[in-house]
Amino acid sequence: MIPFAPPNRGPKVITIDGSEGEGGGQVLRNSVALSLITGQPCRITNIRARREKPGLMRQHMTAIEAACRIGNATCDGLEMRSSEITFTPGTISAGDYHFAVGTAGSTGLVLQTVLMPLIMADASSRLVLEGGTHAMAAPPFDFIERCFLPIINRMGPTVSARLIRHGFFPRGGGRIEVDITPAALRPIDASERGDLINTHGEARIAGLPYDIAQRELRVANRKLDWPDSNMVVRQLPEEHGPGNVLLLEAEFEHVTEIVSGFGKLGVSADQVGKTASQRMAGYLASNAFAGPYLTDQLLLPMALAGRGQFTCVKPSQHSRTAADIIARFLDCPIRFDERPGDSWLVTVGA
Ligand code: AMP
Repeated sequence: MIPFAPPNRGPKVITIDGSEGEGGGQVLRNSVALSLITGQPCRITNIRARREKPGLMRQHMTAIEAACRIGNATCDGLEMRSSEITFTPGTISAGDYHFAVGTAGSTGLVLQTVLMPLIMADASSRLVLEGGTHAMAAPPFDFIERCFLPIINRMGPTVSARLIRHGFFPRGGGRIEVDITPAALRPIDASERGDLINTHGEARIAGLPYDIAQRELRVANRKLDWPDSNMVVRQLPEEHGPGNVLLLEAEFEHVTEIVSGFGKLGVSADQVGKTASQRMAGYLASNAFAGPYLTDQLLLPMALAGRGQFTCVKPSQHSRTAADIIARFLDCPIRFDERPGDSWLVTVGA
């Protein structure tokens, strides 16, 4: 279903050195997704070599197991802390699937692995994913629901997600459900973010003192100066915790950005509020469509659409690495050009 011939199609195994570029888990997730979609086997060496605890962790294992299930694929070397796998794809099957990470490992990152292959399938799918829903170094559920999926839906498919229960680090226990109705991905031009429509700050707290959330919002709003009525504390059932997340949301006409901050031992509520609000202020001061995380996540769907363009803040190492991985599987160059106004233009299929 991909609209152009990949350069290396055939039995040749594509070897990816997982230590190159960002050297994290996204190399793995994008490679496995692209392998399923293009039918090209891949070997990934030096997995997550640039991370503190290199090799496969629970979340990566679940993501690859999920890819094997939906894609009738096999994977050699799939064990905890493994630094090398060989992934041999089969045929993608739509269906009802349930994947549980078993820790607070991110449900969003498991979704990131299987979503594009299931969008390329020939029938609808339903996913139930269990694990973390709001944990560091991964897209929180709200980001997936309100920042990422609306753009995927604009490209053709219909994907909806529901948060059934929060899952925080270290306990996990979260649950999300995702319905996917495939359609050919069509190219979009996402250069303009449009006017600011709404702002919202929410500090969620479970099984921790209420004033942590209040302080995060107060400190964040010193920088942002959003209307006080738009800054709310949401107390979750105690048994969902301990957990805390600060979500700062700016809704524009054509895109929504959510900056998150995660409470953890040793980091003060003030620090969480300060860091998140500085990041949001940076995004607001630019005129870019996509923030740093949305940028790396949009590259794969745009490449699968064959072309597209969007503006973004300064591209991260994640984004540049994602572009390099895509180029290994698809004949789809991706360019990043700096523009005036603190933004960059990303041209996919240039
Ligand atoms: P990696 O570090 O290689 O495992 O990749 C992490 C992935 O999670 C990337 O696709 C990031 O864009 C995404 N991500 C990390 N933190 C956030 C966040 N706070 N909001 C949205 N996405 C995130």
